[in-house]
Amino acid sequence: MSYSRHRARHHRPRPYRPDQRKNFNVYYCLCGEYNLILERPLAEFPQRATDQAYIINNATNMYKWNVKKGTEAIVKRESGYEKQLRFGCPRCELTVGYNASGDSFAGDYTYIIADALTAEQGVIPEALQAELNATPVEEQAENQPIPSP
Ligand SMILES: [Zn+2]
Repeated sequence: MSYSRHRARHHRPRPYRPDQRKNFNVYYCLCGEYNLILERPLAEFPQRATDQAYIINNATNMYKWNVKKGTEAIVKRESGYEKQLRFGCPRCELTVGYNASGDSFAGDYTYIIADALTAEQGVIPEALQAELNATPVEEQAENQPIPSP
């Protein structure tokens, strides 16, 4: 055996339960890993007109990420080019949010990609369910998350 660490969390994520559900909102990736803990529900945050991402003002909001920094990307917007530093799920690497810089960004904001995260572990957001239903049955079976007991 060469395991230096026992990674129990990968087997069944159980972050901070049970007390913090009262005061915090936990958001999970589709793979079941928790990615974000927020003081307020995500639905209360404003959304960008460009890509519907939720806007978190870093100066006025407390939150905790469980993500790893991924790739940088340049995105063309109507107001010019936007440079994004993307954050991905530490387990499956799905991009779930980003920071942006460029001419149109004066403040310090973090963006959460709409429909990337779900408040219920093991549940697929509605918008994504429609997409999955459009894919072949074989693929669906492979990609379905394991439901919580
Ligand atoms: Zn994931």
